Amino acid sequence: MNAPAPRDALRPEDAATRPLLAWDLIERLIAFDTTSRDSNLVLIDWVRAYLKSYGIDSTLTFDDDGRKANLFATIPADDGNATTGGIVLSGHTDVVPVDGQPWDTNPFVATVVGDKVYGRGVTDMKSFSATGLAFVPEFLRRGLRRPVHFALSYDEEVGCIGVHRLIADIARRGLKPTGCIVGEPTGMQLVVAHKGKKAWRCRVRGHEAHSSLTPQGVNAVEIACEIVGFLTGMARRFRDQGGYDHAYDVPFTTVHTGTIRGGTALNIVPRDCQFDFEFRHLPFDDPDRLFAEVEAFAARFVPGMRSVAPDTGIEFDPLSTLPGFDTHGDSEIAALGRECNGTETCGKVSFGTEASLFHNAAIPTIICGPGHIAQAHQPNEWVTLDQLARCEAFMRRLADRVCAS
Ligand SMILES: [Zn+2]
Repeated sequence: MNAPAPRDALRPEDAATRPLLAWDLIERLIAFDTTSRDSNLVLIDWVRAYLKSYGIDSTLTFDDDGRKANLFATIPADDGNATTGGIVLSGHTDVVPVDGQPWDTNPFVATVVGDKVYGRGVTDMKSFSATGLAFVPEFLRRGLRRPVHFALSYDEEVGCIGVHRLIADIARRGLKPTGCIVGEPTGMQLVVAHKGKKAWRCRVRGHEAHSSLTPQGVNAVEIACEIVGFLTGMARRFRDQGGYDHAYDVPFTTVHTGTIRGGTALNIVPRDCQFDFEFRHLPFDDPDRLFAEVEAFAARFVPGMRSVAPDTGIEFDPLSTLPGFDTHGDSEIAALGRECNGTETCGKVSFGTEASLFHNAAIPTIICGPGHIAQAHQPNEWVTLDQLARCEAFMRRLADRVCAS
């Protein structure tokens, strides 16, 4: 990529595209380095002050250390209703690290080059949040027939951790939104389902022996490989026999072993081996039932292992869980989403989001946001100005449906 020209010459206002209402807010949010390992409070405080300037109070829910916070804020309807039938606009505030990535621009400066904006979080996913916030003056000027809520979370990128407290707070206060729109990058396609994910670490404890005396040892690497091979067999079974949902780019449940570590030297029967694996499952597949198959397979090895050495065994530690969800496209929020992006089609995606957590808290949820997941987490993360304009058009049509005038 060529070095960008001076920024003033590149503002979208000067480009052929329609000026972006949200541009200033996008610039602001990108400028906050909210890498997940660091505090997000500077961004949260800025958004809180922005909302306060319009007379809107925010509720913050913090992590255990008080270093990070979720923000939840409500614009009540004209009749004072702040609790029932509202629409939640949801985004996570954190971004993945830029460490070691070859960026051609400053990742924390939203930089327009040609028809694209570059910056960490322009796609995943500050632009959606910025666009929603940019409509606050319009929501207030036109008045609302139903509440609009803003939900900004921390620690999404490290396992959808922060939003649990935000959702618990919504429940505690008795709020009953009609639905939630999560602005993760879908190319502004309406998404009504995503896969779930469940991951484990398997630890095989064998017994060391000189490699000329293998019957006196228990080879942890070989037993681990048997289990990994079983997982590969499951993966083939799902690929060849389903179940299937062809609305997904990968239309079956997948199984994957991501890391494996074991052994110390070729002439030692290895005592320890551990590997991490995950299921990315269709919402109708139960990951615990799939895991039970793995556990049962592993258990077959244990008597033989113990007959050589009693302190051997196989253990599984759960690493992470994110449920899948599927609204089947027939919820009120899905109907609203279809109206707002002017299409009848609904998609499904293989990546996980906070949507399933809202969904499981009885808040029907759709995913629709600018940019594409393929650009997320990459160096030179980008989003096209066209996608940002489409996000604004979506938000304007939403305003037409929730505003009183
Ligand atoms: Zn994201």
